[in-house]
Parts: sequence; structure tokens; C-alpha cells
Amino acid sequence: MAAKVFFSQRFDAESIRTLFERACSAAAVNIKAGDRTAVKVHFGEEGNTRFVPPSSIRPVIEALKAVKAAPFLTDANTLYRGMRVNATDHMEIAARHGFKALGVPIIIADGERGEEETEIEIEKRIFRKVRIAARVAEADAIVPVSHFKGHILCGFGGAIKNLGMGCGSRAGKLEMHSKIRPSIGAGCLACGKCVENCPADAISLEGDQAEIIHERCIGCAECISVCETGAVEVPWAGATSREVQERCAEYAFGALSGKKCVCVTFINNITSDCDCMADSRLIGKDVGIVSSPDPVSCEQAAYDLVVKANGRDIFREATGTDGRHILEYSEKIGLGTRDYELVRI
Ligand code: SF4
Ligand code: SF4
Repeated sequence: MAAKVFFSQRFDAESIRTLFERACSAAAVNIKAGDRTAVKVHFGEEGNTRFVPPSSIRPVIEALKAVKAAPFLTDANTLYRGMRVNATDHMEIAARHGFKALGVPIIIADGERGEEETEIEIEKRIFRKVRIAARVAEADAIVPVSHFKGHILCGFGGAIKNLGMGCGSRAGKLEMHSKIRPSIGAGCLACGKCVENCPADAISLEGDQAEIIHERCIGCAECISVCETGAVEVPWAGATSREVQERCAEYAFGALSGKKCVCVTFINNITSDCDCMADSRLIGKDVGIVSSPDPVSCEQAAYDLVVKANGRDIFREATGTDGRHILEYSEKIGLGTRDYELVRI
């Protein structure tokens, strides 16, 4: 059966709220009073100006407050070193980017260094369990507010990537990105911090260089967060684009497990890269906003609208990656349907 995807070409507060409320009313189970609701956002990396701004998220928060739900703003820590690599810096960038003004708690979902995670059983082809940021896993409902834009590995990213990659703990992000464990490269000062913090006793200091014993490594990614010189290397090329898309879809399935969900995806300021980058170039026309309880429909509609507005797949053109596989695979594993009905408001 086709899922309803609500679509607005306007970006004003009233339109955003109406759109979100219409999508909520189409959900099989409504978000209600007392529901701990994770509003999953991206607070924007330092230097990035294209993330969905607080002013566009405010109408969603107001709608949730109107039904007496308990919303909080959340994101999980990153795999790379930047302003979102630990909760302290992450909160700092969220404050600098104006998110405190929304008047709801800001909670970094996987704790100070990405160590707070919950394993969720999904029994899918790649993963039997996924490692989801704990505060997201505990929530009753999730509202992924996503910026639709390009992504080097996935081609494009919106609701599915926000749920999958965005809700994985740091260790979860590592296993989505790569089948290979991290290693230590140039820049190691032999300070020993990674040795002290490795929970698996998998790092040794040999002379002036730390070394990871891969047979012992459990892939927790702790060493990535503690190394201040960036010497711990993430094997970014350790999985193909199709594999990353499939892994991300399975993680999205886990993040959603047992939860009410309504997605809101902003299709404007479309950039070639994700909001983890300091600003990247604009590649396409602004289209509007889509909202739906079904993340796959929401993503398919966003993609179709962009292709229609620009006359071609601008994501594939910019990144060289065909991102449509994530839509097919997400549908295949039961995350949602690609069959949608666009309802214009
Ligand atoms: S924390 Fe970084 S610099 Fe220090 S020993 Fe480990 S890899 Fe080397
Ligand atoms: S990923 Fe975790 S277990 Fe592996 S070496 Fe780094 S800190 Fe140790």
C-alpha cells in the first residue's frame, strides 16, 4: 500500500508545523502525551552553514509540545575528529549554532565519548545486532529532522541516513563504514592515551609508535576519540558504497525498532557533501519539505522531487555514487515502502 508523503514548497513556520502535524496524523500510532521523543538533528560541524537551522526545527518542537510529548534534541558523536567528536564539544557547537534557544534538552545520545550504546537485535543479512546510541534506543518516539544533501559514500543522505548512520554509537558508525579495524598511522606521539583508554587491551606502545593488535580489537572506536593528533586512522575505504548503504539501512531499522516515527526532510540548500563538512558547494535547486511516518517513502519522494526539479541525478553527478541502492535495500529489509502518494499542502 502506498504511504502518504506530505509535501510543502514553503519553508515558513506555519507550513512546517502543518506539514508535520498532517504526517503525525497519518502515522499508525500517534506521538502522545509523555512520549520521550528524540528529535534527531544534525547540529552542524564547525564552519558548516547548511544544516537545518533551529528556526526550522522550532515548529516541530512546538507541535510536539502541543500534544504534551517530551521532546529533546539529539545527535550521536562522530567517528572523525571535529567539534562533534565528544559530548562536551558537541554541546558547545550546538549552543554556538543556536539550538539552545529551542528551550528543550540537548542530549548527546551516546555519552561523552560514544561509549553509551544499546545493542538491538535485528537479525538481518549483515548484522544480527546493531549498536544504537543509548538515549535514542530508550526513546518512545523519534523524529528525524534531516537535510537532504549529497554524501560521498551513500550518494545522498536524508531520513534513512539520519536514522542509520546518525543514531549509531561511535562503534556502530565504525562497523557501518568499514569491515576493517582502525590502525595507527603518522602523527603518533606515543602519548599512551589510546593505550589507557582501550577497553580490550588491544594497543601496545612499541618505541615511539602505538600499534593496534587487530586480533584483540573489538571495534569500539574509543582510540579514535581520545587521540588528539588524529593518528588513529579510520579505514574509510574498508567497505564499498553499496555495502555502506546496506549497513546504514540495517542500522536505521534497528534505530526505529519499537518506536513511533515521523520524518521531516528539508530539501533546500542542497550541497555536494554532508553537514559534517565545513561548507560544501550548492548543487541544486531548493524544492521544499517532505514529511511522512515512513522513512523510505520520505527518502524516495525527496530523491524523486530533486531529480524532477533539476532534470537529472545531481547527487550522482556530484559524488559519482548511485545512492538509489539504499532505497531498494531499505524496502527489502522492511524499513518501509518506496510506493508513496505525494500529498501537497
Ligand atoms: S593517543 Fe594517538 S598520539 Fe597517543 S599513543 Fe595513541 S595514537 Fe599515538
Ligand atoms: S577500536 Fe576500541 S578495542 Fe580497537 S584498538 Fe581502538 S580502543 Fe581498542
